[in-house]
Amino acid sequence: MTVAVTGASGRMGRTILELASDRGVETIAVSQTFTDVDEAVSTCKPETLPSVLAERSVDALIDFTVPAASVEFLDACVETETPAVIGTTGFEASELDRIERASDVVPVLRAANFARGVQGLLALVREAAGALPGYDVELTETHHNGKRDAPSGTANTLLDAIEEETDATERVYGRDGIQPRNDGEIGVHVRRAGSIRGEHEVVFAGNDEVLTLTHRAESRRVFAAGALDAAAWLHGREPRRYTFSEVIADT
Ligand code: NAD
Repeated sequence: MTVAVTGASGRMGRTILELASDRGVETIAVSQTFTDVDEAVSTCKPETLPSVLAERSVDALIDFTVPAASVEFLDACVETETPAVIGTTGFEASELDRIERASDVVPVLRAANFARGVQGLLALVREAAGALPGYDVELTETHHNGKRDAPSGTANTLLDAIEEETDATERVYGRDGIQPRNDGEIGVHVRRAGSIRGEHEVVFAGNDEVLTLTHRAESRRVFAAGALDAAAWLHGREPRRYTFSEVIADT
């Protein structure tokens, strides 16, 4: 398998290149600048991506960058019929529409979290939310101090699931001053500190009892592994939008 990796000099890009090398997956690193890239890895600048995808036999693009760049790279995938795995988070609605349209032409798998355990957390949160009507729900997510978007894409996915399963629909972001809790609220708390890879905790509290569900990523390799698994799985699929849970169910 050969994958093109955009954002190759970023935190996730570098981890994907490392893990791909361990797995014997060929990579084309796409970045404006490079530091510490293995000599065996081919490199290209973002502006040459369309011609590289057209000329080389690339099985998938893996993108962990920023939303504006991500949708541009996706255009190159559409032009060259290259499947796309997108891990970038923080998309606007118009960018999500653009991704949806691209998936009419090429297979696209976008996930806010490529850790397998987060899919387990999502299922457990859904179940707990459905089983504990009327309980207060509060979500806290913690990431490293370089993360741009808040709350995280994973937090938003968990919040969507909680809202689907309960009557709580009002997201209250942090609390400050005199702000008592009202029925129907979901408290959302964001922490940015140090090098923390990613932690999501959902608390369900009734009178005199608390259920806490937590996932903690201990290394970026867990996300890189999921993204590489998704790229391999996407090979040969029909154009449409796929989910990471489909990959997990199948591998
Ligand atoms: P980072 O800042 O370390 O890396 C981002 C990379 O994107 C850098 O190499 C940067 O040069 C590149 N980039 C930025 N703007 C660009 C542009 N206009 N054109 C081309 N390249 C550009 O960030 P990171 O920690 O690697 O995270 C990247 C994204 O992945 C974020 O959105 C983050 O939330 C997301 N993420 C997702 C998962 C997941 O499992 N889905 C896990 C971790 C991070």
